[in-house]
Amino acid sequence: MSGLAPPREAPSRPALRFERGQHELFCGLTGIVWLHRKMPDAFFLVVGSRTCAHLLQSAAGVMIFAEPRFATAIIEERDLAGMSELESELDRVVNRLIERRPEIRTLFLVGSCPSEVIKLDLARAASRLDAARPGLRVLSYSGSGIETSFTQGEDACLAALVPECPVPAGPPLPALLIVGALPDIVEDQFARLFAALGIGEARFFPGRSARALPPVGPGTCFLLAQPFLGDTARALEARGATRIAAPFPFGADGTAAWVRAAAAAFGIDEVHVRQTIAPARERAKRALERHRERLAGKTIFFLPDSQLEVPLARFLASELGMRPVEVCTPYLHARHMAEELALLPAGLPVTEGSSVDEQLDRVRAARPDLTVCGLGLANPLEAEGLTTKWAIELVFTPIHGFEQAGDLAELFARPLRRRDVLRV
Ligand code: SF4
Repeated sequence: MSGLAPPREAPSRPALRFERGQHELFCGLTGIVWLHRKMPDAFFLVVGSRTCAHLLQSAAGVMIFAEPRFATAIIEERDLAGMSELESELDRVVNRLIERRPEIRTLFLVGSCPSEVIKLDLARAASRLDAARPGLRVLSYSGSGIETSFTQGEDACLAALVPECPVPAGPPLPALLIVGALPDIVEDQFARLFAALGIGEARFFPGRSARALPPVGPGTCFLLAQPFLGDTARALEARGATRIAAPFPFGADGTAAWVRAAAAAFGIDEVHVRQTIAPARERAKRALERHRERLAGKTIFFLPDSQLEVPLARFLASELGMRPVEVCTPYLHARHMAEELALLPAGLPVTEGSSVDEQLDRVRAARPDLTVCGLGLANPLEAEGLTTKWAIELVFTPIHGFEQAGDLAELFARPLRRRDVLRV
């Protein structure tokens, strides 16, 4: 039993709507902060402005002890005039970089708003540089704020990597691929769990090396670990891989349902699955119990930010008794989110898209106990007496799986505890 079942009231459908307007989101460059840690043999060269460089430096902090694995090739104002000069300048920057850092094996040229506005063809630049330097793989993707919100940077990066994955040798044999950047500690936990279930060696994408890519072909069954990987999933499916439909691995029940979906796809006996996951699931449930008292019955409003909003609202409602008021998400992938939406409370407003002013008005009217939002909105809302949680922390903290369920609940309990202390 997964423990997850749609709420009793019928119909068990949230109320979906679409909204478009001004948005306040980080751009896809932010993904470099966690991707460069995940793939230490890759280098990310942003082709952008000083603003892009500042964003990366402040989001990642300055790496003092390690050689950095990302940089910005600055497009100056004079560059905006002549295209050919810019292309040869980019070649010069890359050549200098590779001479200084010959250990780089995969180089991502990352597009930004300025490179997009001047229509710099980074895909062409990448294939030119790739052909010119044997042993160096050069790929490109866009992290621009015009095209991407911050978790979409990971999606664009992984989608660019999929065509580089080798084709499996021999006839198609079922193989499990977990898709979405996970901290190494979480990856190890899942690898042990799937091995114990008898699924065999689970591969991870991205893995710990941008060079050692997993084979992808018709036998590949992939399980999304992150809800923001629409383009990556499409690229994998184009290679013949099959997605395993499942809720996302947040919380004790969410993780159990995610694991069970994979086990079912591989024909693993349900009783064996239940017994194998029972100890970790019980630990997760006990860890959640500690937070239930503070969180149960509390109202929560999600402003659109990370695309994690829907699965997190499901987790908080079904496993901790919180009461979501509204769940706004920048983009809702209907197919990937189907299992999650079916588990949300009936009638809950779920809004796809951003329209900051209208959404803030609804937050003010509802005055929820907790508002999950981007950094830029947190301070103004706190000044109005509302308690907030920075959405970006949910991306930087290990939150997937049984062992992290308690930490995930703690991320929501902490601001409420702080609010209570301040009120006393
Ligand atoms: Fe700003 Fe665009 Fe650069 Fe992102 S890509 S930092 S939104 S200029």
